[in-house]
Amino acid sequence: MSGRKYADGELVMGRWPGSSLFYEVKVVSLNGPSHLYTVEYKDGTTLQLKESDLKKISVFKTKKKGSASSSPSRSGSRSRSRSPGRRPSPGTRRSPGRRRSPAKGHSPEKISSPDPPPRLLYSSSYQSIGGRSPEKISSPDPPPRLLYSPSYQSIDVNEKTTKEDILDINLTPLKVRESLRENNISRYNGEPDKIENDTPQKNTQLINEQAIESKQMLHRYSLRPRREEIKTKEMVLREEKYLEKAEVNIKGLEFGGKIGAFLMIFILPITVILLLLMIGQKDVSMMAFPPAIPALKSLWDQSVFGICLLWFLFQALLYLLPIGKVADGVQLSNGKSLKYRINGFHAFVLSSAAVAAALYFKINLLYVYDHFLQFAVSATIFSFLISIYLYFRSLKKAEDQLSIGGISGNVIYDFFIGRELNPRIGTFDLKYFCELRPGLIGWVLINLVMLFAEMKVNVRDAPSLSMILVNCFQLLYVLDALWNEEAILTTMDIVHDGFGFMLAFGDLVWVPFVYSLQAFYLVNHPNDISLLVAAAVVALNTFGYAVFRGSNSQKNAFRRNPQDPKLTGLKTIPTATGKCLLVTGWWGFVRHPNYLGDIIMSLAWSLLCGFNHILPYFYAIYLICLLVHREARDERRCKKKYGLAWDQYCQRVRYRLVPYIY
Ligand code: NDP
Repeated sequence: MSGRKYADGELVMGRWPGSSLFYEVKVVSLNGPSHLYTVEYKDGTTLQLKESDLKKISVFKTKKKGSASSSPSRSGSRSRSRSPGRRPSPGTRRSPGRRRSPAKGHSPEKISSPDPPPRLLYSSSYQSIGGRSPEKISSPDPPPRLLYSPSYQSIDVNEKTTKEDILDINLTPLKVRESLRENNISRYNGEPDKIENDTPQKNTQLINEQAIESKQMLHRYSLRPRREEIKTKEMVLREEKYLEKAEVNIKGLEFGGKIGAFLMIFILPITVILLLLMIGQKDVSMMAFPPAIPALKSLWDQSVFGICLLWFLFQALLYLLPIGKVADGVQLSNGKSLKYRINGFHAFVLSSAAVAAALYFKINLLYVYDHFLQFAVSATIFSFLISIYLYFRSLKKAEDQLSIGGISGNVIYDFFIGRELNPRIGTFDLKYFCELRPGLIGWVLINLVMLFAEMKVNVRDAPSLSMILVNCFQLLYVLDALWNEEAILTTMDIVHDGFGFMLAFGDLVWVPFVYSLQAFYLVNHPNDISLLVAAAVVALNTFGYAVFRGSNSQKNAFRRNPQDPKLTGLKTIPTATGKCLLVTGWWGFVRHPNYLGDIIMSLAWSLLCGFNHILPYFYAIYLICLLVHREARDERRCKKKYGLAWDQYCQRVRYRLVPYIY
């Protein structure tokens, strides 16, 4: 081809972007207009390089002796000091003892790592296949040397290698390297065909052997993360936080900014009150809107507020019980992680026992139904009080304890979004506690109250099938959340969002009083369904639950242990962070299968209320809006975190929530 120096398939030396190091690459193609060569490194990394960044292999052979992997222009320099094989890495600490390692004697392969440049060191000639501008692309940050393909050999080793280099190179435990690679632990972004790998579990026995061998190797060569590495990790976390903050400042605030937050503080409680007033009426059609507003005075009841407070304290007491395991949260920007007591399920069992005792002693649970509006008002006031407390205590906190999104400087916005990330009184974590305990368990209790109310109001001996199913479906949902409580530690609410009015109101008012709308609706608007309809709705809910639970469990299992035998046969793509993304299984179906399952279940719950009114569908409509918005937030975050790999995942899995629709 005219004007072309290197042919497709030719082996040449390619400069590693941003450095003076050259490695053997294969020319894949030449991009006509940009005149950039697509080249493939031996480990599979594919980049586009300028012609001036490619050299004939013979240039190195003839010109260089001492630094074959460095730029020919530096052939006379002491560039061996940057030789890949010389760079200290977790596997190659250069103590004299290490040189006398057992691996010393045999050198079947003389391997060295390409010693890639640090992050963001790309030269202007570098262009990723994804076509993003070089400045915006974070470095592929190649793997530490343990992860390299056994076949990787730099010219440095082949051409001239000192004894020291050989010793260093020989320390690389090949089997660990192979097993890790096979197990898909890689830190490269790359092209889909090249990077999509099987999950490791072709053979459980082999995996176990590999894991044991890896452990032994790691132990033998002291390959634990060193202090510097931990520090680097902390620095990266801080850098990420800084970037996130910068992005918040640039892109503006969420939820409509200051005005949006200001309005939401009023709109949310008013919505709850209006919904309850509407559903409490016989006629719930739009013609009956707005409902008759009761006198403000009648909305407040001291005893009701006292009961709310007691419920909150009772749940707090259960949370403090030293039962259940203690789990670590995710690593914070200061490098530490918090401990969390996992005893939500225990709390549920003990709460159920307390309710059973109340029934046994003939305590009138219908008091909750009779004062339902007052309960919602009391919970709202309580959530305001707790949010004010949270805001003021956050003013005394250091910046690294605050959430990125909650430090705009605007009082109203920060009050709404939440400033402090993990507000704690001693070991009592307020956000974690509120997320799953008083509101969620309260929701089940309210549903039960509605079941009794339906029987009383409609003078029935037994609750309706719809009411029973609503209770069962939602009980399953709550039990599932509590049983898998540990999974909440990696959710956006816990990891990223501060604790302010938004979450406090959501957890303590919205969940118990809005999520129980279907049961409340059925009290005054009974909907008798046939067994056939019931079976269809049960099937729909079961399907939704299977998608929801299957996908959540699959991801949790994968995040916890990518080598889990349960994940056999799934394909993944690696990312520059070291984590992989699942591209088959549930996460290859759509990009948020767990949200889809959640939405399907919400539809099943609403369908039990029939088609007479839209109000029982409020929850389903709200959940769709919430999860679509949440999905967009998560996509932004993942895109920033995983860069090209996320783009590739999106290409591979095209739909976000519903196949062929969205
Ligand atoms: P997810 O559990 O969906 O977590 C999203 C994270 O999963 C991403 O940030 C990413 O994190 C990871 N991830 C994304 N794609 C992949 C992939 N292909 N392979 C591996 N990991 C991937 O987020 P939520 O916390 O929002 O939701 C948890 C559950 O809670 C859902 O089922 C949701 O429906 C439910 N929920 C219910 C609400 C309700 O009111 N009913 C409200 C909010 C949530 P990383 O890579 O960092 O691990």
